[in-house]
Amino acid sequence: MSIIITANDVHTLFRPSPCRRRVFLSANRPELAAPPTEYDRLLMREGREHEQAHLATFPQAVRPRYPVGDLSAGCETTRELVEGNMLVIYQGVLLAPTKDIAGIPDFMLLSDEGWVIRDAKLARNLDDHGEITLQLTLYADAFTDAFGFPPAALEVVLGDGTVTTVPFVEIAQVVAEISALQQAGDVPDEAVGWSKCSECGFKGFCWNEAEKACDPAIVVGVDQGLRVVLVRAGVDTYHKLAELDAGGLAETRKPRGDKLVRVGPSQAQGILRQARVVISGKHEMFAEPEHLPEGPRVYFDIEADPHDELAANKVYLWGVLTDPGDGSQPTYWGDIAAAGRDGDRSGWLQFLDHARGVIEQLGDIPFVHYSHYERTWMTKYISRWGDPDGVGEKVLESLWDMLPKAIQRALCLPIPSYGLKQVEQYAGFQRSQADYGGLWSVVRYREWLEAGTSDERERIADELLRYNREDCEAMQWVMEWAERAANGVQDS
Ligand code: SF4
Repeated sequence: MSIIITANDVHTLFRPSPCRRRVFLSANRPELAAPPTEYDRLLMREGREHEQAHLATFPQAVRPRYPVGDLSAGCETTRELVEGNMLVIYQGVLLAPTKDIAGIPDFMLLSDEGWVIRDAKLARNLDDHGEITLQLTLYADAFTDAFGFPPAALEVVLGDGTVTTVPFVEIAQVVAEISALQQAGDVPDEAVGWSKCSECGFKGFCWNEAEKACDPAIVVGVDQGLRVVLVRAGVDTYHKLAELDAGGLAETRKPRGDKLVRVGPSQAQGILRQARVVISGKHEMFAEPEHLPEGPRVYFDIEADPHDELAANKVYLWGVLTDPGDGSQPTYWGDIAAAGRDGDRSGWLQFLDHARGVIEQLGDIPFVHYSHYERTWMTKYISRWGDPDGVGEKVLESLWDMLPKAIQRALCLPIPSYGLKQVEQYAGFQRSQADYGGLWSVVRYREWLEAGTSDERERIADELLRYNREDCEAMQWVMEWAERAANGVQDS
């Protein structure tokens, strides 16, 4: 029996990150997937609401009736609606047996030019969503095959309500790849990656397998392209990787986009060092970190939605832990942005106001942050909402990114990622909340916006602010831990 490829299968290949193995596992070992997270469920709920809101704008919409799961019957009923020139068909069934593809687009709209296929998506633009274009094209192919003529246009109603046209692209190769992966005899070889796997339901399974196999992909610095080259050359464990000669590894060429690039001496050294500490389980200090001058400093952390789907308020929490540097207790300040554009602007202005007070009191002190997120969003908020007194620019000039300066230039740690959560854990920082993390916080923020009572709102605000405060405290902890490590002090 031939396999029918659907738009969902295309989504599986590309989301939450492009991965061929996910297609195999979803089709053959779905029991290995973790249940949907709170964030996944929130996205599903928002997606349904978005689709229903768009449906409500078409009171004349009709939906084909057919026995559940019987796509042939669904396609026949949809054909009758198409031939009957219904103006709007909701969730029509498109089945193309000769191409082994099927799809159920949200809307089929009859226009003067012909049928327009339109899907509702939470994405705010198509730039990072190549899978949407492929899904719509799959619908177009199925439509053409089923009814003998092509649709007039493909469209998406985006998360912000705008309707945008989607180009027709080549889909046959993707369909063939998905079909081959679904029918593969065994789990396809695939490089794991901390970011790539972080939101994938199969992370538990794949990461466990990679650790058991001592896969070189779990060594920070070994990207997917390099891992393919290494495994092809027989370097299929990080033990073998650690034995490579630095000069040879530096000259190794790995794919990047459609080019081959040299690994280079500095990256080669870093990878070999990283492989060594993964094997030993002990960190190495290989250079002096950049030191912050003694005295007051601020630990600065924002919470922002990492995806664009729910991004009406991108930065929804601004948090600052001020350490006066005189031995007294640091003080925390955090502000959660209210809903909508006004809330977004007000959150930014509240942050500027607080930062102004800190600078007036303590001078131009360093604003310590972790990774590039804060700089990126400060810059965007200055251009989005302005910087009336120049405080935003002052903070920008005072930003001190502890990841490259205090950690990466000096310390090599036996962890799978240099994200704050992994580094703080290695350094022994303890959180007070069992659940936390970027996506956890996005879900809590949404609950805070929708809270029915002031008590509930206060309880959620407390959780959110505690999470952000502990991010700031974790930075302080890691800074002090790194400074002790640089001075040769061993933590017990
Ligand atoms: S966990 Fe990683 S390797 Fe496994 S299927 Fe998901 S993205 Fe692919």
